[in-house]
Amino acid sequence: MLNIFKSFLKNNKFVAICMYAACVTIIFAIFIGILKVTHIYDFLNMVENKTFDFRQKVQVGAKTHKANKDIVIVTIDDASYEYLTTKYGEWPLPRNIYADLIHYMEAQNPASISFDLMFVSSMKKNVGADDKLANAMNSYDNILTGMSFDNMDYDVRKPVNLPARLQLTVNNKSDVDFERFTFSNCRAVIPQILNSSDIKIGALNVVRSVDGIIREFPAFIKYQNDYYPNLAFLTALNYQAKLDNTSYNTVTIDKNDNILVANKKLPISPNGGLIMNWYGRSDGRTYQHIPLYKLIMLMNGEKIKENYDLTNKLIFIGTTTAGLGDLKSTPVTGGVGETYPGVEIHATFVNNFIDSNFIHRVSPITNILITLFLVALVGTVVLRTTSNSVAISTAVATLICYSIFANLIMLFANIWLDIILPIIAIISIFVIAYIIKYVIKSRDFDYQYKLATTDGLTELYNHRYFQDQLKMHIDSSRRYDGHVSLIIVDIDHFKKFNDTYGHQAGDAVLRQVAKTLKSNVRTTDIVCRYGGEEMSIILTNTDKEEALFNAHRVCNAVAERIFKLTATQECHVTISVGVSTYPYDGETNQELIQIADDGLYYAKEHGRNQVGISGIKVEDIPNFKQNNSDN
Ligand code: GH3
Ligand code: MG
Ligand code: MG
Repeated sequence: MLNIFKSFLKNNKFVAICMYAACVTIIFAIFIGILKVTHIYDFLNMVENKTFDFRQKVQVGAKTHKANKDIVIVTIDDASYEYLTTKYGEWPLPRNIYADLIHYMEAQNPASISFDLMFVSSMKKNVGADDKLANAMNSYDNILTGMSFDNMDYDVRKPVNLPARLQLTVNNKSDVDFERFTFSNCRAVIPQILNSSDIKIGALNVVRSVDGIIREFPAFIKYQNDYYPNLAFLTALNYQAKLDNTSYNTVTIDKNDNILVANKKLPISPNGGLIMNWYGRSDGRTYQHIPLYKLIMLMNGEKIKENYDLTNKLIFIGTTTAGLGDLKSTPVTGGVGETYPGVEIHATFVNNFIDSNFIHRVSPITNILITLFLVALVGTVVLRTTSNSVAISTAVATLICYSIFANLIMLFANIWLDIILPIIAIISIFVIAYIIKYVIKSRDFDYQYKLATTDGLTELYNHRYFQDQLKMHIDSSRRYDGHVSLIIVDIDHFKKFNDTYGHQAGDAVLRQVAKTLKSNVRTTDIVCRYGGEEMSIILTNTDKEEALFNAHRVCNAVAERIFKLTATQECHVTISVGVSTYPYDGETNQELIQIADDGLYYAKEHGRNQVGISGIKVEDIPNFKQNNSDN
């Protein structure tokens, strides 16, 4: 059955290749399954995220993407906190100050002002200030501010119904799951802002990876089955709407998980967010940082050495001070304590939007297909080549080239190819292919060795092996002062047997005689086919007396055996035997064979079916005599 199958595959190369591919795929699927079940996959994904961070750092180092010069951050930094607290005697800053600031900045015609701040109901009696702030914000169509969503218990506060104008209509044709960005509660902003018709309010929520690092950012969140844009996306939509002289309250997600807006395609990651490229470290050099207090000094007519031009700028206002929190880890924040303020993350998102720079992470299926391709490449080369250096250099070159390729494709095409899965798979296949190769090689060697040393018909050792072994045992006996004996067997009247029963029957008898000889000697003795119907036995560590005893035993065993020719036909066969022993009868292969042959000839001459003796007689051997007299 197996053979039929094997020959079928041999004749159908295409089917064989398909089956091979299917086997590899099944093994790989099991491999992935095990990784998933044992949560190793999650771990690998975490390591993969680190390779993403590394690629981002290379990118920031290489400055492939330039930060947008129109993005400006007004930072509520430590200096601002201290200066303004002293000046106004309270913190948070009185809201009428923000109102004045809005008018001051708007005088310079900025593109937009986004507050990465939440104006929630305050304990203080600042109703008048709240009204003033809301009025200032409502006087312009380019002011944005934030609201925050969470899953707070309803005991603490009741979910509020948000005005419909804040919603984003999402036409979802994909199967992306936004569960990570779905919230059940909302922290309400002051009613004056919430109910003003012209103030844009976006979500401030950012969502971190399991390791606490922010790599992607949801364009919108889900609350009470509606979508609300985040502050950055809202800022970007507002900016784009001004450019295109329209408004973008509706976005579509296509079947390939891209958000379609204006003429842009924003790829959604498998986690539901937009993966950002980073433009630099948060050191004030990526985006211009203007300390809030300096702006307020200018607003109040105080003279300072700086002069800021806010015309056409996308202004973000937010805290950058450690004391006020809101600091995050990002792929490009490296050192201890080095973090990114939330406001700069919003700025980075807008920058990605303007440049259409979001990263497309390829699907797990694509990653697996790429991995399969690399595995097939390395596996085939390792299995096919006979050179270790070719195998190793192929594997190493594949690893290095693929890693460089994955870096470059992220740098220049914004595509995130997984690195860790292919690397582990390549290393695994390299080891597995080597093991397979070793097993095949050793099996092949065993087979070749057997082929070279055995006789196909009788499965005894062949003539060459016999000669080698006889010489080896003579040499070893010479060295250790031992004996080795030789028995040569010839089947009697075999020509006639063949003539009577046919060659097939002759072959069967040859095989059975071989078996009889093997089963009547020790396992250390070597039974060979000398040639034709002649066989030889090397009796290791055996003196002449013992050899003669053995010779008689095999002679009798053959004579007594009933040979089966067919199911019904049986016959008897006899053999003639000659014996010789090192060192008495000779010291070389030729000499020992000659003496054994002489004995054989003697046996044939004297009626066959017997052991013929030539050379020295047992009783003439000095040791034998001595042994006898000792007894
Ligand atoms: P004897 O040895 O008793 O003197 O007579 P014999 O007929 O056996 O003579 P000899 O040893 O000279 O003949 C060897 C015969 O063995 C010749 C050949 O037909 C037969 N023979 C040799 N090798 C094979 C073999 O592989 N298969 C078969 N069936 N016969 C073989
Ligand atoms: Mg012969
Ligand atoms: Mg013969």
